Amino acid sequence: MFRTISYLVCFVSLFQRISFPQTSDYFQQAVNSVQVQNIRRHLQFLASDIFEGRAVGTTGGNLAAKYLGIEFSKIGLIPIGDENTFYQYVPMHGSKALSSSKMIIHSADEEIQLNLNDDYFLYRTGQQTYIPIPLELVFVGYGINAPEFDYNDYQSVDVEGKVVVYISGEPQSDNPEFFDGNNPTVYSYPTSKAKIAVSRGAAGSILIPVSENFNWEKQKLEFSFEDVTLAYSPSNNLSVLLNPNTADLLFEGTGYSFEEVLEMNNQKRLKSFPLERQLSFKGEFLQRDFLSPNIIGMVEGSDEALKESYVIVSAHYDHLGIGIPFGNDSIYNGALDNAIGVSVLLDLANTFVQLENAPKRSIIFIALTGEEKGLLGSTYYTDHPLVPLYKTVANINIDGIALFRDFKSIVGIGSELSTLSNYLNAAAANFSLQVEDIPPQFKQFEAFNRSDQIAFASAGIPSMLVLEGIKNKNYSEEEVLDAFIDYMINRYHTPIDDLNQNIDYTAAAQHAQLLFYLCYSIANSESIPDWYVDTPYVNARLRSIAERK
Ligand SMILES: [Zn+2]
Repeated sequence: MFRTISYLVCFVSLFQRISFPQTSDYFQQAVNSVQVQNIRRHLQFLASDIFEGRAVGTTGGNLAAKYLGIEFSKIGLIPIGDENTFYQYVPMHGSKALSSSKMIIHSADEEIQLNLNDDYFLYRTGQQTYIPIPLELVFVGYGINAPEFDYNDYQSVDVEGKVVVYISGEPQSDNPEFFDGNNPTVYSYPTSKAKIAVSRGAAGSILIPVSENFNWEKQKLEFSFEDVTLAYSPSNNLSVLLNPNTADLLFEGTGYSFEEVLEMNNQKRLKSFPLERQLSFKGEFLQRDFLSPNIIGMVEGSDEALKESYVIVSAHYDHLGIGIPFGNDSIYNGALDNAIGVSVLLDLANTFVQLENAPKRSIIFIALTGEEKGLLGSTYYTDHPLVPLYKTVANINIDGIALFRDFKSIVGIGSELSTLSNYLNAAAANFSLQVEDIPPQFKQFEAFNRSDQIAFASAGIPSMLVLEGIKNKNYSEEEVLDAFIDYMINRYHTPIDDLNQNIDYTAAAQHAQLLFYLCYSIANSESIPDWYVDTPYVNARLRSIAERK
């Protein structure tokens, strides 16, 4: 479990000194030089249809990379990418399952073929998912093994070489000590479940979504895009999302219908048991290999000793590209996800370059590729860092920017994990903002794991994503919360996350000012951020320091 530090405790540590060597007038001037018009100019261009939704390895995606390289150069950043350019090329493998793929459910006397997109989606596609000889299926409840809660869905069943079937979610209770009560834990994530299945020796996994909010038609949009992995990443085995309407088929012959399994779940008496049907799979795929760049530039630190240490400011520039039309619009522009974040990154870089006195440590700006495909650019960077990881003191990731001007509160996603919270609290205090916890309605979105900060954290670098909170001068908390929920449900990852939305550039600039202050204070501080003890990333940090990597 993560050790959570209450904000009350964090506020006490506000008094830790974070130094600004320049006069506050000068500093305020710098903060004020964050430019609304720059952010608007970049966003209007990057989110326009010219870039066709900026998918990795497409004309539009490559064009966006080119634009960013040119802007990095105009701003005057130092190129630290491949061969002294701004580009770090990331080798990727793309694959798209075709409807001629054959997934077959076998019983003694019949074979039933399931249809891709109607009955199932593939989380990962490619040759590694081939299952020529029918394999046994085993139902494993939620598919969770959590020793710290003394909970194991795999305890009574043998799944070695078989395909496991599980439902979404995790045990629910009012006991906060058990799976965090009714809040979701990491165990509820599909990726965690698939990992557990692999670690138990399963040859594949099938997830049946059972949440009330689940919408198969919406998933069709998400799964219509090419599956992309790092070219060198180990292959995953078969990982399937099954339409709950098709689930009955798997339970035939067991004495339980899927309805009855759901009833067991409602009554909190879910159990694991072998299924009578078997499964085979032969995929047909369109595949390709290509390169897509991270764009990387640096502002050198002003202190002779400390400039050899680094703060990374990152924002992903890729989005989904062209997909299933929504109305008559098929371009997924990703204006808020994350053209606006990378526009803010450009303006921050410009503001830092324009400073008369740079902060003591160096700052590296990275426009990351492949975030939407599974944090590929950030994972590649931490596998192939351009400056030593152990000398990289922090990562501030930008993915999404404030929707409403005059926000009165902010949320530091990941701030409960490290002393970056001290810097965040100090920055918040400077702008008279409150630091608040993530609204419970959004816990299910597993925020820390959902964007590139997790890749930096996994490499041991304290990282954080700063978002606006729900307190605002002009709107009630309910209004702000409703707008967030509306975005997540109706606009996120659809073609209407585009420039036709009401975009508040003043809000973006206010957010950018806060980020400028935050990044400056980290880069200028003598002390460096540390993970709190017992967080899962401490060991990675200790290892990179020991190995001087
Ligand atoms: Zn996204």
